[in-house]
Amino acid sequence: MTTAQKLSFDVQLTDHARTAAEREQVLANPRFGQSFTDHMISIDYTEGAGWHDARLEPYGPLSLDPATSVFHYAQELFEGLKAYRHAGGTIVTFRPYANAARFNHSCVRMAMPELPEETFVESIERLVQTDRDWVPTTEGHSLYLRPFIIATQVGLGVNYPSKTYRYMVIASPAGPYFTGGVKPVSVWLSTDYTRAAPGGTGAAKCGGNYAAAFVAQREAVEQGCDQVVWLDSAEHRYVEEMGGMNLFFVFGDRLLTPALTGTLLPGITRDSLLTLAADLGLKAEEGRLSIEEWQAGCESGELTEVFACGTAAVITPVGSVKGRDRAWTIGDGTPGAVTTRLREELVGIQYGTRPDPHSWIHKIG
Ligand SMILES: *Cc1c(COP(=O)(O)O)cnc(C)c1O
Repeated sequence: MTTAQKLSFDVQLTDHARTAAEREQVLANPRFGQSFTDHMISIDYTEGAGWHDARLEPYGPLSLDPATSVFHYAQELFEGLKAYRHAGGTIVTFRPYANAARFNHSCVRMAMPELPEETFVESIERLVQTDRDWVPTTEGHSLYLRPFIIATQVGLGVNYPSKTYRYMVIASPAGPYFTGGVKPVSVWLSTDYTRAAPGGTGAAKCGGNYAAAFVAQREAVEQGCDQVVWLDSAEHRYVEEMGGMNLFFVFGDRLLTPALTGTLLPGITRDSLLTLAADLGLKAEEGRLSIEEWQAGCESGELTEVFACGTAAVITPVGSVKGRDRAWTIGDGTPGAVTTRLREELVGIQYGTRPDPHSWIHKIG
């Protein structure tokens, strides 16, 4: 943990907050990432001076010089976590220090300055406290928090990373990520495109990874599938992750998830499920699975369930797989028992309806 001097936040409240009626209208049907709360957090960084000008201010557009470095060289990265309302009104987040630590790992890879973990968590607490009326009361809904950092130096020189940055947090009320309930998704095995290669940025939560992935996600949709599944860059054979979510394979009472080899994103949901699976008496392993093993396991009946996991969509079953020269189904088109059990356990901890044995819940107020 960094022991920098504590930043003091300047607070400037909006004088044009949405009315309660306007807010309720948004909360009645929150589409993921479409509406934002009344305020945002900004903190600036200048090489030599460090982090400064921490503030909570009205949500609104940024004014940036067209030559600002982020527009040209994509020095940017982000985080994603949620605030949940428990019965009785308490608002909490889930493992925010894990997001703070991953944010800093991503920063190191992208040659950006690290933010003290306490400041990351305080920025989230302040925004959620100020905009607490935006945390939904509807079961299964939450306030999605999006911390991010951009390079703000003006100039097109490419030899050095930016000397100035801005960290921000914005918040958006969220309903279920996939509309239509927990129903299995179909996936497309991408063999024409690669998400990440050894030594690249696959383990950093940077926007550039997404920019490079959209073409494959579009290909998945053209192939009649919901989501793309990424394979290793060398052989296009070993499973890495789904576009924006990690994958788990269920062999009866044994779970397998691809190991963190540096080319996939270390999901906090993934990490939590490895722990919860063990709590439930399941064997949870990190390893390697080829698409041939995936198909053969489903055909022999040994591989009983597959699911994807991430903060936004929590746990989503995978029901069918398609590639250039193969296609198969998993299970009977309904979420499997292990998938459902793990989902209930995790969601129960997040919403405060189950005990929190690992102290993952962080109270905000
Ligand atoms: C954020 C993300 C995940 C899931 O991480 P969580 O911490 O569980 O939300 C998985 N893959 C990619 C590419 C991601 O960006």
